[in-house]
Amino acid sequence: MATPHSAKRQRTTSPLAHQSRVLVLSHPNTHHHTGHTSSRDSSGEKPERTMAILTYLAKLYPVSHGLLQPPTPPQVVFDSNPPRAQLRDLWRVHDVEYIGRIIDQTPKCGGRSRHFSPGRAGVKTTFLSPGSTEAILRAAGAVTTAIDTVLASDSNITTAFCVVRPPGHHCGWSGVEPLDTDIDLAQGFCYVNNVMVGAAYAVHEYDTRVAILDFDVHHGNGTEGIMRRLLSTHPPEIPFPLLFISTHQYSPGFYPGTGSPHPSSSPYSRHIINIPLARGTSSAEFRKALKEQALTALRDFAPTLILISAGFDSHAEDHVGDLDLVDEDFQWISMVCKRIQKKIVSVLEGGYLGDTSESCLVRSCAAHIKGLLDEGEDSSKVGS
Ligand SMILES: [Zn+2]
Repeated sequence: MATPHSAKRQRTTSPLAHQSRVLVLSHPNTHHHTGHTSSRDSSGEKPERTMAILTYLAKLYPVSHGLLQPPTPPQVVFDSNPPRAQLRDLWRVHDVEYIGRIIDQTPKCGGRSRHFSPGRAGVKTTFLSPGSTEAILRAAGAVTTAIDTVLASDSNITTAFCVVRPPGHHCGWSGVEPLDTDIDLAQGFCYVNNVMVGAAYAVHEYDTRVAILDFDVHHGNGTEGIMRRLLSTHPPEIPFPLLFISTHQYSPGFYPGTGSPHPSSSPYSRHIINIPLARGTSSAEFRKALKEQALTALRDFAPTLILISAGFDSHAEDHVGDLDLVDEDFQWISMVCKRIQKKIVSVLEGGYLGDTSESCLVRSCAAHIKGLLDEGEDSSKVGS
């Protein structure tokens, strides 16, 4: 029987079907979003982040050279030219005027970066440079392309990882998300919420049930804000098709200051699960918290697609946060997700370069892909 969200798009064969199991998407134009010189220090959100990740993954999963086909299909394939997102895909989860301001205020070619601060004033982490609108549309376009690929009915690429920037999970409906706190929120390097664009796209185009898992060290306040807005306007007679689970550091003064659990009496509690973690949370404590507070809900929700807000600043070596996760934790949580639902689209959020050539960011991404390939620990240790 048709529903208001009945599938409108024919699931077609992806051109990359039958080649591999994990698709890594990126676009060189995302490097043209340069932010501002003041944010391009060792902890900044800068083009070198995604460049380093892609260089590292290319070494781990080299493309075959020459004319001969490799004897076995590669486990990982790369798509570096996904199309731009359509504006209508952004408008499902963002105010039309807000998106218009991004486009209007992006400096013309050769212009200088400028601060972009929609709504309330905040810490200056959001700057528009001449390539910003292009980067933003390419980042969101990578996510919708990834969803098209993994939901293609005969594709054996069930999993994708979008190595894109700028990140998105701090961006709400109109940029800033005050939520239930009175602190003056900035956007934390985010302009468009890539994961929520993907979630709305998947529901609208494929009639899916989407679970979003966010393991960035910071609370996905923008994602929660958009979830709340969608929940508040959703017809009660139609099951709400989204679940959001966030693990994040929650300690005094730590950005963004939101992310406390919703009590069971809250209208949000069935669809927004916040798992705040104390400073210094260890690998074992992180896994225990997820097992006790999230995995049953995730299984019960029975998603037909899992989106991951993959923030690797929760690694112990990343100096932005104070959690003590290790490479293997990103492999573990990816495997757990894969065994609940094999169709996964993961999207890069935070995670920053250190001083070493093999930083925790690139190692964590490699561990994440291993987990998405369902490699590593035996099933008895996965914690199902
Ligand atoms: Zn973060």
